[in-house]
Amino acid sequence: MYLCNVEKAVKTVDIRSLSLAQLKDALVEMGEQGFRAKQIYEWLWQKSCTDFDEMSNLSKSLRETLKANFTINAVKVKQSQISSDKTIKSTFSLYDNNVIEGVLIPADDRMTACVSSQVGCSLTCKFCATGYMDRKRNLNADEIYDQVVLIAKQAEEKYGHPLTNIVYMGMGEPLLNYSNMMKSVDRITSPDGLNMAAKRITVSTAGIAKMIKKLGDDEVRFNLALSLHAANDDKRNEIMPINEQNSLAALAEALKYFYAKTKSPITFEYIVFHNFNDELQDAKELAKFCKNVPCKVNIIEYNPIALADFVNAEADKIDQFATYLRSQGVITNVRRSRGKDIDAACGQLAIKDKDKEASEA
Ligand code: SF4
Repeated sequence: MYLCNVEKAVKTVDIRSLSLAQLKDALVEMGEQGFRAKQIYEWLWQKSCTDFDEMSNLSKSLRETLKANFTINAVKVKQSQISSDKTIKSTFSLYDNNVIEGVLIPADDRMTACVSSQVGCSLTCKFCATGYMDRKRNLNADEIYDQVVLIAKQAEEKYGHPLTNIVYMGMGEPLLNYSNMMKSVDRITSPDGLNMAAKRITVSTAGIAKMIKKLGDDEVRFNLALSLHAANDDKRNEIMPINEQNSLAALAEALKYFYAKTKSPITFEYIVFHNFNDELQDAKELAKFCKNVPCKVNIIEYNPIALADFVNAEADKIDQFATYLRSQGVITNVRRSRGKDIDAACGQLAIKDKDKEASEA
């Protein structure tokens, strides 16, 4: 029910939650011309406009009607920190005062945005700062999209380079916010949105077999990464409790299904933890697991958090680990961590209160 010229009431409808067809219907219901919906949509999505007053090709009266009936729950940059390696971590505030984080990672050949998909996370990976926060809520598709737009703006303004890649590796488990994640990808890839190629996007999951199959059924064109970190159920259960309901066998089956449907190779992320998963036997188990599906391994450097005792394995141990994988024909990259000095690295994103409490205890 739209308010039209009715006395101003609480504006609860975020205009960006409407599809083009719904917006058109709403305009007609308000006595406006339906074709204006396309113009408004261009402002909202192509031009990332978050203020009705800036929609300059709409009449003043239509802008007033929109203001009276809708809101735009835009994400705002609350704070940004720049690392010595030029990584920028931003804290974003949401319309309901919740806070999330996103990161711009500049490199010679790419500009990558790392975005969050949830406020907090319901999974409790033991090495991850976000895992020690509660999940407060899912992000809407436009809140995910807004992070990309704001980080793209930082890339242009600070480094004079457009965004080239997007990774869903910030706070939250994207596959537990499936429909909003998918809608945000649609917006990012749509010619009516940012028009980026799907292959520039990587969605990273802790491993939810049923949802990996769903990605296959939906024949997604973006890349899928699995945070593996152990190719042994006992060890994986210990650090990633989600593995208890999604065993390695179940994940392997889901990944095979995904690959059969999409022909898209998988990326396995693996942190080599000191004295936990850094032995030859661990590398052997990983190499064996990699035989399930076309894939590559990214070995990620770990950045300790106050809440957990894990530390990164020594450099030579990581080299030996990578060398063994390569000897088994597994494509293996060793990734240096970025933004460590500002807690922007993988596993470090969290609203700091709890982390601070732990370090002060
Ligand atoms: S690693 Fe990902 S899935 Fe696991 S707790 Fe952290 S944010 Fe959640």
